[in-house]
Amino acid sequence: MASVEQEAASPHIWRGREGDPAGLRSGRPVVWLRSPQAHVSCQKRPVSIADIEEARARLERFRPALRALFPESHWDGNIQSALLDYPSTVGLANTPLVKADHALPLTGSIKARGGVYELLCRIEEIAQAEGILVPGGDYAGIADPEARAVLARHCMAVASTGNLGFSIGLVSRAFGLQAKVFMSREAKAWKKDRLIRLGVEVVELDCDYNETVDRGRAIARDAGAIFIDDTTSRDLLIGYAVAADEAIAQLSARGIAPTVAHPLVVYLPCGVGGAPGGVTFGLKHRLGDAVVCVFVEPIESACMLAALARGEGRSVSVYDLGLSNRTVADGLAVAVASELVLEVAGDLIDAVVALPDAAMTQWVGRAWHEAGLRLEPSAAAALGAIEPFLAARPDYADATHIAWTTGGSLLPDSEFEPLLTDWTAAQTIGQ
Ligand SMILES: *Cc1c(COP(=O)(O)O)cnc(C)c1O
Repeated sequence: MASVEQEAASPHIWRGREGDPAGLRSGRPVVWLRSPQAHVSCQKRPVSIADIEEARARLERFRPALRALFPESHWDGNIQSALLDYPSTVGLANTPLVKADHALPLTGSIKARGGVYELLCRIEEIAQAEGILVPGGDYAGIADPEARAVLARHCMAVASTGNLGFSIGLVSRAFGLQAKVFMSREAKAWKKDRLIRLGVEVVELDCDYNETVDRGRAIARDAGAIFIDDTTSRDLLIGYAVAADEAIAQLSARGIAPTVAHPLVVYLPCGVGGAPGGVTFGLKHRLGDAVVCVFVEPIESACMLAALARGEGRSVSVYDLGLSNRTVADGLAVAVASELVLEVAGDLIDAVVALPDAAMTQWVGRAWHEAGLRLEPSAAAALGAIEPFLAARPDYADATHIAWTTGGSLLPDSEFEPLLTDWTAAQTIGQ
C-alpha cells in the first residue's frame, strides 16, 4: 500500500486553465499552478497599503484596552505570533519555518487577526457614536465598567464554522457586547460549548458555511445586530494583511531578505480566502515576485482552486464539480470562495495545493511528534502542502519556506488525541 508520502510525490498537476476536474477525485493531492504571467502590480485594488497602515495604528490604539480586558495572560496586547524553525527538513534544502498563528493570543487561530480587527473597527464606531470615545482620546477607558455597560446595548453577529465565531464571541463579550454566532453544520460541539460558557448566543444551522452566512445576515438584520461577514469584508482582509509585515520583520531579524533568485514560498490554508488573501496582498505588496504564495485547501472544499482554474475572476461552487465540501479540516470547509478576495488577491496567488483529508490528519500527528506543535487539521494542511508543491516545482527546493499554521493550540485533549492515531498508524504501515 502506498503511503500518503509516496502519493504526495506524484500529485495531479493543473496548469492555468488546462485542468480536468476529474483529477480532484483521484485521491491524490492536486497542485494548480498559475500560467507564467507578467509582473502584477498591487496598485489600484479595493484594498491599499494605506489601509494596512491605518489598521496597524488602530490595533496599537486598542492595545491598552485589550491588555486590560485579558489580564490573566500577562499579555502585552499585541496580536502577534512567533516565527519558528520546523525541526526536520521535509525534503527541503533547509528546514521550513512555521508562522505560529495556531498559538496567537486570545483565540489560538488566525481569526484573532482579521476577525478581531474588524470587531475593533465596529467597536470604535459604536463608542464614538455613543460619546464614550473621542478620536485621539484614551482608549484604555473603553475597558471600564461604565463604557462596557453602554456597549452592552449592542449586539455583534457572525457566521462561523468555529474559529471566527470564537474570536468574535470571546472578544465581544470581553468588551461587554452581546454576541450571536450562527454555526454551520461542520462546527464542532466543543467550539459551540465554549461560546455558550462565554454567554454567547449560539444559533445552530444545519447547512453549509455559505448558506449560514446568508441566513445569519438576514436574522441579524431583523434583530438589529451588526453582522460581521467574512465573505465580503474589506476590514477583515486588511486585518489579516497586517501579518505580512510582521513576518517580513521576523525574517529580516534572521538575516533573510527574499529575492527573485532566493524567494520566499508561503503556504497558506484557505477557506473563503480572507486570511490567506490578506496575507498574500501584504506580502506581494512588499516583496513582489520575491514571494510565492501557495494556498492550501481540502480537496472536497477546493473552492479557490476551482475559481482560479476557471480563470474568470468569479467564484465557483465545489458542489458543481461533484465535490462534497465534507472534510476533517472544519476551518476550511467552504464551498464558494470570496469574490472580494478574488478581486483583491486572485491574480497574486501563484499556486493552490488541494489535499486529501488523510494528508492533513497525518500532519497533525507528525507536527506534534516531530515538533511539539498542537495543530488542527486546517493548520497542519500548510505543512502537508510542501511536498506536493515541490513535486510540481522542484526548482523551489532551496527557497525559504514558511508554513502558516493557522489554528489549534486551544484544541482540548479529547479532540486532539484521536487525531494523533493516524500518524502512528501510518508509521506502522510504512514499515
Ligand atoms: C478560517 C481559517 C482559515 C482560513 O481562513 P479564510 O479566511 O476562511 O480563508 C485557515 N485555518 C484556520 C484554522 C481557520 O480557522
